Amino acid sequence: MLLISIILFILGLGLGSFVNALVWRLHEQGIGKRQQATGKRNLNHGDLSILKGRSMCPNCRHQLSALDLVPVISWILLKGHCRHCGKTISKQYPAVELAMGFIFALSYIFWPAAPHFNGQWLLLATWLTASVGLMGLAVYDIRWMILPNKIIYPTLAVAAAGRAVYIGVFQGRPGHAVWLWALSVAIASGIFYILYTFSQGKWIGFGDVRLGLVTGTLLSDPYKSLGMIFVSSLLGTLFVLPHLITNKKTMASKTPYGPFLIAATGIFVVFGDSLITWYKNLFGL
Ligand SMILES: [Zn+2]
Repeated sequence: MLLISIILFILGLGLGSFVNALVWRLHEQGIGKRQQATGKRNLNHGDLSILKGRSMCPNCRHQLSALDLVPVISWILLKGHCRHCGKTISKQYPAVELAMGFIFALSYIFWPAAPHFNGQWLLLATWLTASVGLMGLAVYDIRWMILPNKIIYPTLAVAAAGRAVYIGVFQGRPGHAVWLWALSVAIASGIFYILYTFSQGKWIGFGDVRLGLVTGTLLSDPYKSLGMIFVSSLLGTLFVLPHLITNKKTMASKTPYGPFLIAATGIFVVFGDSLITWYKNLFGL
């Protein structure tokens, strides 16, 4: 178990590095497209492929060597500066790498059932793969207040494929399981769809509605979806409250909701069963 945890931690660090590159490249592509639309083409932007090509410094675009690309360690050794242009490299880079490392290791360590038991490994693998996309969405949302479809849809595909195979192969009552999946999505996405329609997009973005398809599928349990929404609003409120008290309303209105939904989903994917049992016991249900 220790060895697998360490391997997963290292794998997570590497995928965190991928998330940083993915988010940056996607955003650069967006700038490139806007420049193309306005006719002001600047070759620095928009010519990057998402998955191909060597890693480079976000500032000087110097190609990075393997030594510059060791997650976290390179950043520490270079004291957060690019070796070529000397410009500061955001703390986002090591933070995302570390976060992915811990998500990978802790999800495995605290997974609610033994991974070899009845297809749990498939659910765990689906969650870990989807968590890479979710991290990309969270980072993008924090930086630019957008949940890009280019990350949402592939993540949804992974989550849905994993769930469908799990239900088809490992679950005794597939009809019932599909019903729970549908209810879960209806809650995780439907509540936001209602809020979106009701407020004409002022309270919540359509990205949060789409994100609900992913979180609802990953949870595939209406109770967990309800709990996830409750915990996400709790986390969001706790984060925004200090800014409201000090009257920094702009900060509060500039806080994206996606990262809280994503964090709460992670909590409920791993700890959902224990949280629901605890809640039921609390009220003697
Ligand atoms: Zn540089």
